[in-house]
Amino acid sequence: MDSLASALNDHYGWDSFKPGQRPVLEAILAGKDVVAVLPTGGGKSLCYQLPALIRQGLVVVISPLVALMQDQVKQLNRRGICAVSLHAGLDPDCHKERLSCLRDQQLRLLYLAPERLQGTVARKFLEGKAANGDIVAIAIDEAHCISSWGHDFRPGYRRLGEIRSLCPDVPLVALTATAAPQVRAEIIRLLNLRKPLVQVCSAQRNNLCYSMSRRSEEPLRNILELLKISRGAALIYARTRRSVEHWAKALQGVGVSAIPYHAGLNNQSRHEALTYFLEKEKPVLVATVAFGMGVDRSDVGLVLHLDLPSTPEGYLQQSGRAGRDGLPSDCVVWFSPGDRTKLGWAIKYSSIQSKEGEATGTANFRFEIAQEQLRRMEAIAEGDSCLEQALLLAVGELGAPCGRCDRCTSLRPSRNWSDKAMTLLVSLHDNQGVAIHSLVENLSKEVDKGEERWGWLARRLVQEELIRESNDGSQKLFLCESGRYFLKEPWPLKYAG
Ligand SMILES: [Zn+2]
Repeated sequence: MDSLASALNDHYGWDSFKPGQRPVLEAILAGKDVVAVLPTGGGKSLCYQLPALIRQGLVVVISPLVALMQDQVKQLNRRGICAVSLHAGLDPDCHKERLSCLRDQQLRLLYLAPERLQGTVARKFLEGKAANGDIVAIAIDEAHCISSWGHDFRPGYRRLGEIRSLCPDVPLVALTATAAPQVRAEIIRLLNLRKPLVQVCSAQRNNLCYSMSRRSEEPLRNILELLKISRGAALIYARTRRSVEHWAKALQGVGVSAIPYHAGLNNQSRHEALTYFLEKEKPVLVATVAFGMGVDRSDVGLVLHLDLPSTPEGYLQQSGRAGRDGLPSDCVVWFSPGDRTKLGWAIKYSSIQSKEGEATGTANFRFEIAQEQLRRMEAIAEGDSCLEQALLLAVGELGAPCGRCDRCTSLRPSRNWSDKAMTLLVSLHDNQGVAIHSLVENLSKEVDKGEERWGWLARRLVQEELIRESNDGSQKLFLCESGRYFLKEPWPLKYAG
């Protein structure tokens, strides 16, 4: 057994590393910067905890997740390891007590919320420790939050670029569960990483079975059917607080002891919901997508989204909360064509709000990216190809069809949509820049009924790059160069549907 493996055994009692952990640990111990993309449940925390224990020094962990920090500190303290977290919401006495821990030479892990780095206490502390060579590494967890390409951008994370100048000789480790290539590039650039090791583990999970279909008018019955056949815990995601409340009530009404969870609940209710989810045998939790980060329950057998998720990357992270025990689990999405419009408005609204304190250019850029990701998510949900393959491709991973998802297992006959596409493109040719809903309305008035089909076809043609859609949220359509070729000399377009 080499020294790393024996350290793993001494400190955690495990015999082997999970994929990707060893190269990350070796790089940190060699003083190198690292970008580690390790899937949920892939043991990210070990990558920064173990170096502190091996070196008998301090590792600083920046994390936006208070619950996760508290949980890890508790676990470390239980094992007799000195660890402390500093974040907002601590009462003054507690805060003082924790600050006094900073003087403890035995301190191994210090967890900091990103905004703490603005305070002089934390900055002075880091500077001093770094100058003395006492910091083994600084880990930035959920590093994708720094990138406007990412699915969970947080303005507070942007300032983390200062860490490098604050602690110039300390290795920086950026960790995340999912990061597409652009996000990785932005992490490296914004954190000023120096020739980092980029360790990417596949987000592929061969015990998850994806399915995506149109939401029925009355989904309650379908939910009950799913709950009946699913194992373990069930996580049901709804988009708004109101719909979370609505579905929890509806389920309770038919005898399912479902519990709602969203940011609008008071601390106590949230705490109760969390305890219920972690401790009950087969809990059903209805929540907004914020729930689940850092929540560790391994036997989640069903993750059901009642609306279209807003990005493939975010969806991979949310669906990845299923089946961490390695047993077969279902990840189901129900969507409707109206979802994208609603989400688009929500994004627009939040981008207007966040413009305070952020340059307008950046906010607009993020808004356009959000539209783009939404479109991509919808294309995956409506498309014909393997869902896992399409999701992984969206985060820059090439793979074969999974053989498990509903696209792989069902034979959906395809037919040629070329003639219909022709009609649609001709109409668009005469009416460039028309909003998708007006085009669809005109076609179903003038050609044949079926707004749904026309809308669906228009979206397929956007994916086919025969037409282009504006990114300003108004969904205006324009004919592309290839669309003009198609008009001159059409070719077959085969889609199931
Ligand atoms: Zn598949």
